[in-house]
Amino acid sequence: MTSPTRTPNSPLNRAAVSSADGDARPQVLPAAEGWEQQRTAEGRPLLQFASPRVKQPPQHLADLTLAERAETLKELGLQPFRAKQLSTHYFQHWTTDPERMSDLPKAGREELVEAMFPPLLTEVRRLRTDDGNTIKFLWRLFDGALVESVLMRYPGRITLCVSSQAGCGMNCPFCATGQAGLTRNMSTAEIVDQVVAANRVIAAGELGATEHPDERVTNIVFMGMGEPLANYKRVMAAVHRFVDPAPEGLGMSARNITVSTVGLVPAIRKLADEELPVTFALSLHAPDDELRDELIPVNNRWKVDEAIDAAHDYFRKTGRRVSIEYALIKDMNDHAWRASLLAKKLNQRGRGWVHVNPIPLNPTPGSIWTASEPEVQDEFVETLRAAGIPTTLRDTRGKEIDGACGQLAAAE
Ligand code: SAH
Repeated sequence: MTSPTRTPNSPLNRAAVSSADGDARPQVLPAAEGWEQQRTAEGRPLLQFASPRVKQPPQHLADLTLAERAETLKELGLQPFRAKQLSTHYFQHWTTDPERMSDLPKAGREELVEAMFPPLLTEVRRLRTDDGNTIKFLWRLFDGALVESVLMRYPGRITLCVSSQAGCGMNCPFCATGQAGLTRNMSTAEIVDQVVAANRVIAAGELGATEHPDERVTNIVFMGMGEPLANYKRVMAAVHRFVDPAPEGLGMSARNITVSTVGLVPAIRKLADEELPVTFALSLHAPDDELRDELIPVNNRWKVDEAIDAAHDYFRKTGRRVSIEYALIKDMNDHAWRASLLAKKLNQRGRGWVHVNPIPLNPTPGSIWTASEPEVQDEFVETLRAAGIPTTLRDTRGKEIDGACGQLAAAE
């Protein structure tokens, strides 16, 4: 069914022809299959930047800095030093159980816990694969919205893929999350609580074969549901909770936290100024505006070169090598000439600042698009490497449980 679209005067075909490298492979154009992509009155794919439902969950300890927690406790008529005790329970012991907080006075303890730790995530379902080394969680939020996170054990590290929004407003036609649009931004504590919940599961010995007794999430990737840079303030506060030393936060290393974006250029520039050396990933998926305009609707606002410039500036400001994500889609974006064009655009800006992660496309409901053929994949990777671009093919985990990149849609 992936019949090649060969409109002679389509700009994409001209691009393919002008590559003049004998690459006579067809050019499939993006189109939503099996579902309707939401459009504006002018017929453009709808982009939702603002959270449509303003009601956020009740405030939780993880929404606040340590100083703000102390302030809140003071307002509740309690001594500010209790903030540290409560923080230790949550960020170091991953507990919100008043029974386990024997350092707090018995009188009023339950009320205090209720006020500081309103339940945010209710587990709806847990799916396992890879011999129990990958777990996908489905969570219900206080207002019924559903989100997912995916926990993955690798040798020597444990990665959690977190969601930052319920749904997503970026409307990329190949990604399952965008199909239902944006429900709302997640709160800081809703983002943080995914990690704390995962740490509890790991501590209970429920993630594959334990390597050592003090295991916990070591790496966080903002590659679950949502566009993290469209929920900038809450996401940045969550990153602070991840890296703040215990007991204010989880005491993780910023370089083990990856913020992935579809390319919101002004927000990328803001992120570069934060002085938080997180790992930065740009979901590019096409080096030419003709294709990227169709594949990534936000490209109509910020073009390929602007997004790559912003990524390069991120490297210049932080010294952190950035990643380019590139889902390989059969006959759509996997042509050798595109690998060459991508390499050219990256090399134009310098050497050693970037690496490319091609990801074989994961199937999404209703989609007829497929991953590239293995030899095409190899050719794409080799073309980049030959041009001096470090390139690692990423085989995403959790396909069997719809937990891989682009498959998170959170239905019951
Ligand atoms: N909104 C952010 C983060 C979420 S998606 C972003 O766009 O970066 C995490 C990664 O999975 C992105 O690189 C995204 O483009 C990719 N992805 C989406 N759908 C996919 C699919 N069907 N197969 C493989 N990767 C996909």
